[in-house]
Amino acid sequence: MDTDVIIVGAGPAGLMLAGELCLAGVRPLVLERQPRLRETPKANGFNGQIVELLRYRGLLDRVEAASGRRIGPAPGVPFGGVQLDLSHLADSPIWAVPLPQPRLERLLGEYASGLGARILRGHEVAGVSQDDVVVTADVHGPKGLYQVTGRYLVGCDGARSRVRDTAGIPFPGTTYPEVNRLAQASLPDSVTRLDNGDLDIPGLGRIRSGFTRTDRGVFGFGTLSSGVALLQTTEDEVADVDDDVPMTLAEFQDSVRRVLGADFPLGDVMRLSRYGFQARQAERYRDGRVLLAGDAAHQFPATGIGISVGMLDAVNLAWKLAAVISGWMPGALLDSYHSERQFAGARAMLQTQAQVALRRGDDPAAQALRELFVELLADDQPSHRMGALIAGADIRYPMPGPSQHPVIGTFAPNLTLHTERGRASVADLMRPARPVLLDLADRADIRETARDWRHRVGIHTAETDHRPADALLIRPDAHIAWAAAIGEPAGTAAAGLREALSGWFGAPR
Ligand SMILES: Cc1cc2nc3c(=O)[nH]c(=O)nc-3n(C[C@H](O)[C@H](O)[C@H](O)COP(=O)(O)OP(=O)(O)OC[C@H]3O[C@@H](n4cnc5c(N)ncnc54)[C@H](O)[C@@H]3O)c2cc1C
Repeated sequence: MDTDVIIVGAGPAGLMLAGELCLAGVRPLVLERQPRLRETPKANGFNGQIVELLRYRGLLDRVEAASGRRIGPAPGVPFGGVQLDLSHLADSPIWAVPLPQPRLERLLGEYASGLGARILRGHEVAGVSQDDVVVTADVHGPKGLYQVTGRYLVGCDGARSRVRDTAGIPFPGTTYPEVNRLAQASLPDSVTRLDNGDLDIPGLGRIRSGFTRTDRGVFGFGTLSSGVALLQTTEDEVADVDDDVPMTLAEFQDSVRRVLGADFPLGDVMRLSRYGFQARQAERYRDGRVLLAGDAAHQFPATGIGISVGMLDAVNLAWKLAAVISGWMPGALLDSYHSERQFAGARAMLQTQAQVALRRGDDPAAQALRELFVELLADDQPSHRMGALIAGADIRYPMPGPSQHPVIGTFAPNLTLHTERGRASVADLMRPARPVLLDLADRADIRETARDWRHRVGIHTAETDHRPADALLIRPDAHIAWAAAIGEPAGTAAAGLREALSGWFGAPR
């Protein structure tokens, strides 16, 4: 066997998986077909629950340094053609990271390599086969065709995943007949910026700041804080957009001409990108020794969340793969990766498909729906709830076991902890990506029960100001596997904890 885990694709999902596997003690091999880091403009940034997870891994400072801009709560996000205003919330559930994707990939690649992952660029996986023991990848490398074997292989190879296709995993869904083209550019002197942000253009007249609908599509215009103009066209067009084919300036200008009926003068062009919208989800995230993560497993018909959902797939999968490879959990643990992350993907699909319905409607009924939405979202409670849904912060995995405590299955909150050694936080405890038993009520019975798992589970006692439970068992992906209710009797607490510990982290010592 050449390696324990072969990762196909060095995008955000594959690189995050590589780093997390290393933290869990497994050294993966990453095979990436592109010979060097790709500079194609894709995401300009990302948001969602992955930001909190990066904080828990102690990576947020590095991300902020790479971004060069402050990471903070998003004051608002677009939602299907309306703007969701979050600025009035005391605790916005969406944090935005303004970090272009090539810089994110550089950062994640350096991080994973630093932890011991091998990343081979210019190595394209052409085929995958498996039996009961091993999975084999046929690879085209710089020196020709070769084979590499591993115990597991994870397809993080994007929306057109060859791994998914060779594993025969269906990817059902819809391709929307719509193409969006974006440009960031300076404007020449011939264009006059009016005081209210509108533009006056020779031969075209006045163009409103915001969106202009015409018979042929939508033209959008805004100004970034740097003063650079952000221009966008949306056209109904049946096209399966290939991210590998860069958009040219001529393609953008042709599109503007079709939508507005005239030429739009541009100065220096800094960025050109295009995207279509698909709503697709893999029927299975696992086929024996082959797994899928990131865009290979799902494509959402709205921007802003693809990176977060894909990287969170990786975080959920890594510790489970490591547990199976080390032999302390059976391979069936990997089925929980499918059920949990397909469930999370379905929630993301729910809100992004609702955005399509809101955005694409062009009649008075659709306009009324948008207005109604804006009205409902003016209140704190619905806007907080929508924000949490968009971020994926409301995910509650169904967990086995008798305990129905409401925090079980949710992402562990970043509680401030008072310990014998001073102040700490849940984020501090999650940094090494190990399971944590957090005793919040000085419960010797609970600590005693967990003692037999202490080679795998970190046991910590602390006080917190508003304790949600007497104790929390937190998995490496920061989701709560078990909780003791406040004042729960020792007998039921011990039975529930033992079941959760052996169910997730194997037999006691
Ligand atoms: C214009 C545009 C704007 C976007 N904006 C946002 C945004 O604002 N926020 C956001 O969260 N998301 C955004 N997205 C979506 C985001 O880019 C994707 O969700 C994200 O890239 C998915 O990451 P991934 O690692 O799953 O796959 P990818 O990033 O697609 O990476 C897959 C990797 O696998 C490699 N690969 C493919 N096949 C093989 C093979 N056979 N062998 C070896 N390697 C292979 C590819 O070269 C690639 O490097 C945008 C996308 C586009 C196109």
